[in-house]
Amino acid sequence: MREPDVVVVGGGPAGIGAALAAAESGQSVVLVDEHERPAGQYFKGPDGSSKGSQRIQHLRAELARLGVDVVSRGLVWGIFEGRDVMVVHDGASEHLRPSAIVLATGAYDRPVPFAGWTLPGVMTAGAAQTLVKAYAVLPGRKVVLAGAGPFLLPVATQLAEAGAEVMLVEATPARAWLGLAPAAARVPELVREGLGYARALRRLGVTRLSRHKLVRAEGAETVERAVIAKVDGDWRALPGSERSLDVDAVAIGYGFLPSVELAESCGCALRFDDDAQAWFVAVGESMETSVPRVYAAGEITGIAGNVVSFWEGRVAGASAAGNEELATEARKQLGPRHRFARALGHAFRPRPGLWEGTADDVVVCRCEEVTAGEIRTRIAGGCASPKALKDWTRAGMGLCQGRMCGSTIGRLLAEGTEKPLVEVPRGSVRPPVKPVPIHVLAGTEVPS
Ligand SMILES: Cc1cc2nc3c(=O)[nH]c(=O)nc-3n(C[C@H](O)[C@H](O)[C@H](O)COP(=O)(O)OP(=O)(O)OC[C@H]3O[C@@H](n4cnc5c(N)ncnc54)[C@H](O)[C@@H]3O)c2cc1C
Repeated sequence: MREPDVVVVGGGPAGIGAALAAAESGQSVVLVDEHERPAGQYFKGPDGSSKGSQRIQHLRAELARLGVDVVSRGLVWGIFEGRDVMVVHDGASEHLRPSAIVLATGAYDRPVPFAGWTLPGVMTAGAAQTLVKAYAVLPGRKVVLAGAGPFLLPVATQLAEAGAEVMLVEATPARAWLGLAPAAARVPELVREGLGYARALRRLGVTRLSRHKLVRAEGAETVERAVIAKVDGDWRALPGSERSLDVDAVAIGYGFLPSVELAESCGCALRFDDDAQAWFVAVGESMETSVPRVYAAGEITGIAGNVVSFWEGRVAGASAAGNEELATEARKQLGPRHRFARALGHAFRPRPGLWEGTADDVVVCRCEEVTAGEIRTRIAGGCASPKALKDWTRAGMGLCQGRMCGSTIGRLLAEGTEKPLVEVPRGSVRPPVKPVPIHVLAGTEVPS
């Protein structure tokens, strides 16, 4: 067992910010991340000469200079008693017992089931971006990218720059962007970034369609057509407005869901965000969670972009190190950016039409192939929680451990039991929070 001062889980902007601030404060720091090297979602991809690439190379050099022990390809599969951190890397499990933990496990694309979403060629916006950005692979030549929110802009730009013919289908009206003006006044760099993408999309000939959504994907072996329709203000499709587009890839992006499973299994209290319709880790000013000496930062505490994640990470890392001066400095970067993030979250919040009317034959749990109809039948028969549905249908029991279907199951429970989502019980989370080779667990003594 090793006993560093601080363990940071997640090597995205938040985790890197936390590790740097703690190390600058004289702490011994271990940073664990699942990938080849620290980057997270925003900085993923091969080294190049872009601004983002230069920034992450600089941050990695800083981690090395400050002596942060970076455990790459390392998965934290459980945290016990809020202090014992279990990591699997290089085929073995390691036990860390730090005096403070910073959780910075990030977010993932919100899964939204619709007819045809399991066809090859249909993917999330994040997956399409990863293919292009990290692997230089085009998901398709003719791509419909549908959803809502600012994340669609970089993805559409990156796909079009890589040579795809892109149609951007946005559920919100064009004026949704204008409504952001008051909050945007204090974050000029983000406004510049957004306008830069808007210009790039025009230059690259990307067609933009607002107030439309993807209704279904069609095809025999792979996706061949995207059927889109006009929507009202609640994102309900207007009858008679459907049209079909020939495509070879479809990507959808309706925002992100936070990866809170580790925090939840560790006992951290969560808070429900009405706009995102999702649960985030609750933190105070110093980014401390409800579990003493466990901090959280970045997208698991609220979706606010890479810059906010980095500065929240610095607040968390400095606070974990007891360096109040550094934490106060970092906190100054957050105010206006948090306000802008809240305005974005509200403008592009998912509306009811996104989920209503998921047809009974649509697969909800992809791992166990459980349909919306089977889940509805069980709910009508008395199943009132994700746990009961798991027992009866196996939904949520597969490799993804509910990351793909959990939010939809919550929705179906809300619909079937006529409760708001906030009142629907959550599925239980137990270690290992992600799949781990059985031989690793077999040889591990779990702390008690
Ligand atoms: C798919 C996707 C694409 C995005 N693309 C953009 C973009 O182009 N532009 C933009 O401005 N914003 C983008 N974002 C938003 C972006 O994620 C954030 O702004 C920023 O990267 C969040 O930083 P973070 O550190 O909170 O999380 P992340 O960057 O997501 O980093 C979290 C890290 O923690 C690791 N991790 C999670 N659980 C564990 C565990 N148990 N053990 C070990 N490691 C773990 C993850 O693998 C990941 O590397 C994207 C988000 C997603 C989900």
